[in-house]
Amino acid sequence: MVLTKETGFIDHERIYNYLANTKPPEKKEVEEILAHARELKGISFEETEKLLLVEDNELLEEIFQTANYIKNEIYGKRLVLFAPLYVSNLCNNDCAYCGFRVSNRKLKRATLTVEQVKKEVEELVSEGHKRVLLVSGEGLGETALDYTVRCIDAIYSVKKGNGEIRRINVNIAPLSVDGFKKLKAAKIGTYQLFQETYHYPTYKKVHPRGPKSDYLYHLTAMDRAFQAGIDDVGVGILFGLYDYKFEILALLQHIKHLEKEFGLGPHTISVPRIEPANGAPLSFEPPYPVSDRDFKKIIALLRITVPYTGIILSTRETPEMRREAFSLGVSQISAGSRTNPGGYTAKEAGEQFSLGDHRSIDEVIYDISKMGYLPSFCTACYRLGRTGLDFMDLAKPGLIKLYCLPNAITTFKEYLVDYASEKTKKVGEKLIEKMLKEIPSEKVREKTIKYLKTIENGERDVYL
Ligand code: SAM
Ligand code: SF4
Repeated sequence: MVLTKETGFIDHERIYNYLANTKPPEKKEVEEILAHARELKGISFEETEKLLLVEDNELLEEIFQTANYIKNEIYGKRLVLFAPLYVSNLCNNDCAYCGFRVSNRKLKRATLTVEQVKKEVEELVSEGHKRVLLVSGEGLGETALDYTVRCIDAIYSVKKGNGEIRRINVNIAPLSVDGFKKLKAAKIGTYQLFQETYHYPTYKKVHPRGPKSDYLYHLTAMDRAFQAGIDDVGVGILFGLYDYKFEILALLQHIKHLEKEFGLGPHTISVPRIEPANGAPLSFEPPYPVSDRDFKKIIALLRITVPYTGIILSTRETPEMRREAFSLGVSQISAGSRTNPGGYTAKEAGEQFSLGDHRSIDEVIYDISKMGYLPSFCTACYRLGRTGLDFMDLAKPGLIKLYCLPNAITTFKEYLVDYASEKTKKVGEKLIEKMLKEIPSEKVREKTIKYLKTIENGERDVYL
């Protein structure tokens, strides 16, 4: 691999050459790769590189069907739900696509106090949320890490009714190894950071100033997080900035690098597409817009390549697109989201971008339950220390259905008892009946039914 001082382990030349000189694979070869994929062990990155070039509609349909098969076999109908919690929209960077960019003088800026954070969390908890993604701009300088840790403590401290937040994932600017150690000590779930674009010239263009303009420091964030002992990391690409084929090939190089150095790839991959953001002209006309068809291809390819890695879709997508994405491999979604600090309790500070889905969590849950998908608020793995490689050991088709399915059922039951509207309750109870039948062991099914009774009797937070 050619390493350069600017681009690190992302070998741009190799990607340019591959895209310029490789023909799409023949039908026979595609079908061989898809047969391999159906063994549920993932396919080689060389095989993914080939599938990426498929443009033929019939073959694409076969790719979608394979992704759907893998999603069903491994995850069943579970969908994990979370809410983003924006704590500060101050930022010293000037990302061309983001409403928080420093040059957006019109944005009303705010950094929540610890008390305000608690208020936001009370609201989220009383809607039924159990997982949040803490999000922040990069404007607090040296105080940022201490502030983040105080926010995390505040979030975990809130108890309201029968609820509390049980897992906090974090999406903040990259840290040093020591910084990541502090973040780990604060008991975070996943550390998320998106490279946005792996294409160096584009990266430099859309990040003209501020700490984020350092491509290599951003790229190597996950190395430092792993070195600090954080073993669940989430990567992502902001689709629309550059050619999606380049981005996927580079993402594969990133994953390969992490696997080689640390024996472990990312826990999740996020797939945002650029949404219009006031004060960020580029966001209204992304240079490389990704069509719905290509977006579906991206999700399907990721599901086929890394079957045990979570794929996260945010509120940014419309309900219609989300529906299709679930069937292709998305395993986590946000619901009832606001992208401005204080957005759950007030509406004063400016938002980061506009949302494609404006529904409340109850509406989202009603909708996905009606489609036959099982909303899950499970946080068991992280709390039992099943992270990193331990999680990967669990991530086998049979085992996921033995642990994750019962835990999805019990956490959904908690939601139905404590927070759901009457119409959601009705659909939800029926869904639970149906899902119980899918638990592959009689013993575990009985245990789950027992747990459901204890929840009806007032007990909470029971899991396998
Ligand atoms: N400031 C940190 C950073 O940039 O990495 C973390 C928080 S930032 C608010 C979270 C993510 O929002 C970014 O990584 C970017 O991918 C996404 N984002 C920014 N502007 C967006 C837009 N217009 N549409 C969709 N996503 C956007
Ligand atoms: Fe700041 Fe992050 Fe937005 Fe860039 S994407 S302007 S770093 S909040």
